[in-house]
Amino acid sequence: MASHIVGYPRMGPKRELKFALESFWDKKSTAEELEKVAADLRADIWKQMSSAGIKYIPSNTFSYYDQVLDTIAMLGAVPPRYNWTGAEIGFDTYFSMARGNASVPAMEMTKWFDTNYHFIVPELGPDVKFTYASHKAVNEYKEAKALGVETVPVLVGPFTFLSLSKPAKGVDKTFPKLSLLDKILPVYKEVIADLKAAGASTIQFDEPVLVMDLESHQLEAFVKAYSELESSLAGFHVIVETYFADVPEEAYKVLTSLKAVSGFGFDLVRGTKTLDLIKAGFPAGKFLYAGVVDGRNIWANDLAGSLTTLKELEGIVGKDKLVVSSSCSLLHTAVDLVNEPKLDKEIKSWLAFAAQKVVEVNALAKALAGQKDEEFFSANAAAQASRKSSPRVTNEAVQKAAAALRGSDHRRATNVSARLEAQQKKLSLPLLPTTTIGSFPQTLELRRVRREYKAKKITEEEYITAIKAEIKKVVDLQEDLDIDVLVHGEPERNDMVEYFGEQLSGFAFTANGWVQSYGSRCVKPPIIYGDVSRPKPMTVFWSTAAQSMTKRPMKGMLTGPVTILNWSFVRNDQPRFETCYQIALAIKDEVEDLEKAGITVIQIDEAALREGLPLRKAEHAFYLDWAVHSFRITNVGVEDTTQIHTHMCYSNFNDIIQSIIDMDADVITIENSRSDEKLLSVFREGVKYGAGIGPGVYDIHSPRIPSTEEIADRVKKMLAVLDTNILWVNPDCGLKTRKYTEVKPALQHMVVAAKLIRAEL
Ligand code: GLN
Ligand code: ZN
Repeated sequence: MASHIVGYPRMGPKRELKFALESFWDKKSTAEELEKVAADLRADIWKQMSSAGIKYIPSNTFSYYDQVLDTIAMLGAVPPRYNWTGAEIGFDTYFSMARGNASVPAMEMTKWFDTNYHFIVPELGPDVKFTYASHKAVNEYKEAKALGVETVPVLVGPFTFLSLSKPAKGVDKTFPKLSLLDKILPVYKEVIADLKAAGASTIQFDEPVLVMDLESHQLEAFVKAYSELESSLAGFHVIVETYFADVPEEAYKVLTSLKAVSGFGFDLVRGTKTLDLIKAGFPAGKFLYAGVVDGRNIWANDLAGSLTTLKELEGIVGKDKLVVSSSCSLLHTAVDLVNEPKLDKEIKSWLAFAAQKVVEVNALAKALAGQKDEEFFSANAAAQASRKSSPRVTNEAVQKAAAALRGSDHRRATNVSARLEAQQKKLSLPLLPTTTIGSFPQTLELRRVRREYKAKKITEEEYITAIKAEIKKVVDLQEDLDIDVLVHGEPERNDMVEYFGEQLSGFAFTANGWVQSYGSRCVKPPIIYGDVSRPKPMTVFWSTAAQSMTKRPMKGMLTGPVTILNWSFVRNDQPRFETCYQIALAIKDEVEDLEKAGITVIQIDEAALREGLPLRKAEHAFYLDWAVHSFRITNVGVEDTTQIHTHMCYSNFNDIIQSIIDMDADVITIENSRSDEKLLSVFREGVKYGAGIGPGVYDIHSPRIPSTEEIADRVKKMLAVLDTNILWVNPDCGLKTRKYTEVKPALQHMVVAAKLIRAEL
C-alpha cells in the first residue's frame, strides 16, 4: 500500500524563504545565498517525507514565487515588455515578471481557485513563441536524486495552464486560449524527455481546472492534450491530479478513459461526490490516489473514518492500486505544529499541519497494508473524542440560537429609502458626503506601541493614552480636511480579523501558522475551534472615545461574519454556515452595543464575501443565501436612524449584484480603482440601487496622489449613472498601508472635488 503527497509548502517552518527572498530583493544578500536557503528547505522536505515513508514524494512543487509563474518560465512565455533575451530564465526575468521592475509593472496576479493563494496569470496570444526556457523541473528532480530521494516531478498540466491564462495586451478577448495546445505541447514533450533521461519514472500533472464547470469543447481539448502526449509518456507512471472539489461526471468519464494516464488523484475531502463516481465505476488496472487527508485545513484527520473509506475503495480498485494521498497540495495549510509550543495542549492535539499530515497519510497507508500503528491510531481516536466532547467546543446556548436562525429570515422592517430619509434627518449630511474606509496610516511608532503593550512592556494606561492620542490626531486631520463622516483610524488593530478573533470565544491563534498568500506574503489565519460567542463588547470603548472628540458622525467599525469566516481556518465538524451564523450573532451584539452607546453610523466590512463563492455555479445560490443572511442578521435589530455601511474590496461584483442589494445595507463602499466601467455598467444596464453607494474615487494601492480634476471627473462619470442623492465620495479601501504624505493631499483633493461638484448641482 503506497502513500503520496500532492505538494508541500515552500515557505519553510519559520518563513525562511520569505526572509531570504526579501533580503535578496533588498540587495542585502546574494543570489547564491537565496539559492542556498531554498536548497536547504527542499532537502529538508524531501528527507522528511522520505523518512516518514512516503512512496510518491513530489518535486518541483517548491517555487521562488509561484508554480504558474514557473510554468510560464518553463514554456518561455515571457511577455515582450520584459525584454527577455531567450536564454535560460534567471532571477532577473523571473522576479521582474513577478514583481515588476523600475521600468515595467508586474504581471497580473489572481486567486488560485477558491484559496487565498494567488498565482501569476499567463498572458497569451497567437504570437507567443514557446520554448523550453526553464529546466527547473528536471533540476529539482536531479537535486533530490543526488540526495538519495526518488521523487515525482510535478507539472502544472497543459490544460490547466492554458485555461487559467488571459489574452495578452492587444489580443482579442475572444481568443481561443486552448488553441495554443499545439504550441505548448512540444515544450512539454521536451520536458518529459528530459525527465526521462534523468531517470524519472513517475510524473504528475496537476489539472485542477477539471473540477470547474466545463463545456464539451474544453473537455475535448483536455483529451487532445493527453492523447498528444501519450507516446512521449510511454514508460512513465502518469498521475493526473485534481483537487478543491469533486470532478463532475462528464469530466470524470473523460479523465478516467485516458490511455496515457495510469493514476488519478481526487480530493475526497471537498469532493465527496467523486466517491460516488468511483463506486459506480473505476477503470481496471489503474491507480486511485485517494485524497483523504485535508490539505486545506489544520485539523487532524479522523483516521478511523478515513480507514473505513479507504477499505471500501480498496474493494473497488484493488489492493495494489490504491494510494493514500493528501486532498490537494499542503501549500494551503500551516507548516509544522512543532513550532507552536504556546498553543493550548488540548487544542493542539486536535490539529495537524503539513508535517503532521505527511505522517497521517503514511500511517493510513501502513494500516491498509496490515501494519497499523495502534498507538498512533488510538492517540488520534482519543483526540477526536476529546474534540467532540470538549466543553470548550460546545456552547449550547450559542448552538441553539444559531440553529434557530436557519430557515428564518431577518430583514430590517423599513425599506432602505425610508431609512435613508430618517437617517438624513438625524445626520444632515451634504450631497455627495465624503468618508474614508476605516484605517489610517499605521506608522512604525504605532506598531511599536501595540507590540510593546502585547509584550507587557508598557502599561494598559500608557497604551490607552497612546492610542487615544493617535485617534485624536486622525480625528483632527479629518476635521481639518472637512470630511463629513469620520473614522477613528483603527490604530488599535493589527488585522481586521485577528482583532475580533482575539476577543471572541472559540478562536485560537498560532505563532507560526503561516500560509503563503502570494510571493513572499503569508497570512496567519485564526483557528475557529469552538462555538463562537462574544464575552464582552469589543469596539465600544474606542468608538465612543473617538465620537467624544468630534460633533461629526463617527463610524463604528466592525468586520462582518462572512469575512471573519473566510479568512480563518474553519472547524470541519459543522457546516460553514452554522459557524457563520454564530459569528453573525456575536457581531449583532456588538452592533447593538455601539448603537446604545450613541454611535449612529456603523460600518460592517465584508471584504471577503465574494471570495467565499464556491467554484461551481450550482453552489453559488446556497452560499450567497446564507452569507447575505448572516450579514443581515448583524444589523436587523437597529433603529431606522442608525446607518449601516458595508465595504467590499473588489469591483468585480457584477455577477453577485443581486446578493449585494439583498444585503440591504444603507450605504456600500466598494473598490473601483481599476475601472469605472466595470462597476458602472451594472447600473447602466438597469440594475436599480436605492441604497447609498461609494465606488472608490481613487486607488489606495498605489502611492500616486490623484489630482482634484481627476477625482472630480470620476465623480461626474458616476453621476451620469447614479442618482445624486445616493452617491458617496470615498477612497477605494483602508489607508493603512499608505504614508501620511500621500494620504493628506489625496484626501484633500477628494474633498475639494466633492465640494466643486456639489456647487454645480
Ligand atoms: N476597515 C478596513 C480598513 O479600512 C477595511 C479593510 C479592507 O477592506 N480590507 O482597513
Ligand atoms: Zn477594502
